[in-house]
Amino acid sequence: MTYDRLVCANCAAPVSQGRCPVCRANRERLQQEGPFTDLNPMALIVLLVVLVAALALVAQQTA
Ligand SMILES: [Zn+2]
Repeated sequence: MTYDRLVCANCAAPVSQGRCPVCRANRERLQQEGPFTDLNPMALIVLLVVLVAALALVAQQTA
């Protein structure tokens, strides 16, 4: 998701220029979005548990 072409509803300037508080707020919010923001916390916990279980299995087999 790029915000380069987003135009601010408050000042009508590109949000990426950060000309007004609304722009800056939107810019910060969009910059915080990473590849993992779509995952909910429960999915992250499940992923972590599976990862730990897999590591435990590997440790058992190599010991
Ligand atoms: Zn603005």
